[in-house]
Amino acid sequence: VTFKGYPTTSKLLGQNAGWGEERVNLAEQSLLNKLIRRSLVRNRNQVEVLQADPNSPLYSVKTFEELRLKPELLKGVYNMGFNRPSRIQENALPMMLAQPPQNLIAQSQSGTGKTAAFSLAMLSHVNPDNKWTQCLCIAPTYELALQTGQVIEQMGKFCPDVKLAYAIRGNRMERGAKLQQQIVIGTPGTVHDWCTKYKLIDPKKITMFVLDEADVMIATQGHRDQSIRIHRQLPMNCQMLFFSATFEDSVWRFAEQIVPEPNIIRLKREEETLDTIKQFYVNCKEKEDKFTALCNLYGALTIAQAMIFCKTRKMAAWLAESLTKEGHQVALLSGEMTVEQRAAVIERFRSGKEKVLVTTNVCSRGIDVEQVSLVVNFELPVDLDGNADNDTYLHRIGRTGRFGRRGFAVNMVDSQHSMDIIKQIEMHFNRKIIKLDTSNLEEME
Ligand code: ADP
Repeated sequence: VTFKGYPTTSKLLGQNAGWGEERVNLAEQSLLNKLIRRSLVRNRNQVEVLQADPNSPLYSVKTFEELRLKPELLKGVYNMGFNRPSRIQENALPMMLAQPPQNLIAQSQSGTGKTAAFSLAMLSHVNPDNKWTQCLCIAPTYELALQTGQVIEQMGKFCPDVKLAYAIRGNRMERGAKLQQQIVIGTPGTVHDWCTKYKLIDPKKITMFVLDEADVMIATQGHRDQSIRIHRQLPMNCQMLFFSATFEDSVWRFAEQIVPEPNIIRLKREEETLDTIKQFYVNCKEKEDKFTALCNLYGALTIAQAMIFCKTRKMAAWLAESLTKEGHQVALLSGEMTVEQRAAVIERFRSGKEKVLVTTNVCSRGIDVEQVSLVVNFELPVDLDGNADNDTYLHRIGRTGRFGRRGFAVNMVDSQHSMDIIKQIEMHFNRKIIKLDTSNLEEME
């Protein structure tokens, strides 16, 4: 296992605001991911490891038994349905549990098992007999802190002596009375208050500090500085664990401030490809014309499920309404919905209650498209300058791995400009996009 060079800039998925009216809120996106995720994200890439001390042996585990966890903790892990460590956990767990303590920076896309990994590390680290706070974990938002807290609670279900407190807004505490909970999870502002203003936590007694979702953290106003302020109060020998789904330069600089002598573990996102996708375009005039083409297309094909992308909420709402009038069962994802509402819509679509999902781009991140056999770009993805947004295009219709299911992508072209975009996309991916006549659909067979 090797690490090739230092982390390079990687684009924050979905931060591309070129796509119409909606901007991505990273914290919401992350929460949505957590709400709709039921299992590990598939990733066959090699884990890259850069050790702080290249001469020390590198341990990795293939089973949870090898970690020699307390039996009640192992029971909690199995009770969650985990059979073996995930890719990133194979290396991260032994490193986090090692003696003497090791610092860690870990980066892998959401859904690869980071939260479960550090939850396990915290639960294993604490001494339940000591009735004071030993592990401190900070998360970017109230909701994300709650989500992670639930993982810790679930995993620690059979460890009744280990207690968890939530340092989040609204959780009022009496000043000065020291907390007895061994683990505290919260947002930076409240955690800082609990350490300094209210003196509920003695930061000098913290021996494990976890910073979760660092990329989301620095995207949130004030959180970076607040985190650094907390970090400054911690003792020298405190173990520092730092997690991020992406690793651009700003995240890396933040990591360097928090984690001295780091071990670094990275798992690259699995590349998406267009290899198993047949791509088409349809010439249309205006939106009504596109709508007719869409109905022809849909009527002619036996499609498992379809996803239709629009640029604006308004267009998405119009299209969903028009499709519903035609008698289709349609799900609509729209920017004004709360994260919980979006998660519910995605859940219904996934379970097959609706066959068509109409969405704007930013709403749909995190949806696993492998089960979707038709993707329609009702409007083409463009960046702020009006050029083809190739990353978004790939993300909408691409599949990971060689065994990704086959699918169709249909692009609605309504002007010379959109035809130019199709040409740009063809050039970029070096894949032909075939003209389709929706009144004669034999080409698709
Ligand atoms: P991340 O923090 O990287 O987003 P999570 O720790 O939340 O990833 O894990 C993603 C999903 O996979 C969750 O549903 C979690 O319960 C599950 N999971 C985590 N580790 C394992 C494992 N070793 N085996 C099976 N499922 C796992």
